[in-house]
Amino acid sequence: MLAAYASHPEQSRGRLYPESAPSGRSQFQRDRDRIIHCNAFRLLEYKTQVFVNHEGDLFRTRLTHSIEVAQIARSIARRLGLHEDLIEAISLAHDLGHTPFGHAGQEELNLCMRELAPEAGGFEHNLQSLRIVDHIEERYAEFNGLNLCFETREGILKHCSAKHAALLGEVGQRFLDRTQPSLEAQVTNIADEIAYNHHDIDDGLRSGLITLEQLLDISIFATHYEQVVQLYPQLAEPQNRKRLIGEIIRRMIHTFVVDLSEATLAQLDKHRPKSADEVRQCPRIATFTPEMRAHADELKRFLRTNLYYHDRVLRMTLKARRIVRDLFQAFINEPALLSAEHRRDDFNDQARAIADYVAGMTDRFAIKEHRDLFSM
Ligand code: MG
Repeated sequence: MLAAYASHPEQSRGRLYPESAPSGRSQFQRDRDRIIHCNAFRLLEYKTQVFVNHEGDLFRTRLTHSIEVAQIARSIARRLGLHEDLIEAISLAHDLGHTPFGHAGQEELNLCMRELAPEAGGFEHNLQSLRIVDHIEERYAEFNGLNLCFETREGILKHCSAKHAALLGEVGQRFLDRTQPSLEAQVTNIADEIAYNHHDIDDGLRSGLITLEQLLDISIFATHYEQVVQLYPQLAEPQNRKRLIGEIIRRMIHTFVVDLSEATLAQLDKHRPKSADEVRQCPRIATFTPEMRAHADELKRFLRTNLYYHDRVLRMTLKARRIVRDLFQAFINEPALLSAEHRRDDFNDQARAIADYVAGMTDRFAIKEHRDLFSM
């Protein structure tokens, strides 16, 4: 049952280019379907989440991360009566604008843009996700991009500088007005956090960069560990390590999902929005309880210190930054190295086209392109 405060497809604020209503599926289903069929979505398979794609087949990629976000967001949507197709569309599209090599690649691309083309406007991965669905994809006869509904685009644009927001029209307005997005967008944002906190623990343990013993200092992990070994004492034995980790993590995800759902219902009860538009005017509604917020922050701090800044990860980060910088510099200094479709007459347009090209690369394509340009 769709709640009154949910996003209702028949009340959508519409698409940039008017289209006839879809038959046999809702507007938001159409958006979800368009995202799954676009090029940028398939490229997520070969883009880094934390571990570079070639490091091992079991590690998360941007694609499996996005699917896990969609799973968590959908299950919260069902508990809260939100629109499941919209929340799935936002989840699957939220990382489309990510560069190769995760955050390191994105930061380096932004630095390159700011240093070498200061008038071109920098690079923000979140804005890039919107740029892909609004402009970059070339699949439809009548428009560039995917021509998604306002509600999907609103959810994709999680954060945005005031300067960029002012150029985006309706979808950027909330960053100037300081209002909230739909509840589907708010929930996806937290589902993203639940997903990466847990799968990064799982991947971190698998890689051996973090250990179970370290994690036992984290109170929410320790609580669930105690629960599991009390119920299944045999899982404490070393040969059952994989199953132990799986059982702890699935229970932790459940705890966060239940807490988020209940705390959000309490906020809904307090503010009583009667439509998606009233949600936009309320303070932020999707939330953990303060206690779970503290647990989530503790997990994030742990991962930052022990995984994202682990020397083995930092070595990869260093190489990733160099590849992105070398590529950007080579192309901006010598646009003739680019194929005709990426060349532009105006310098700032050229910088943006290079940023689009580099951002669109998968890890392995960027490595190959770098080798092509810099090795004999
Ligand atoms: Mg994400």
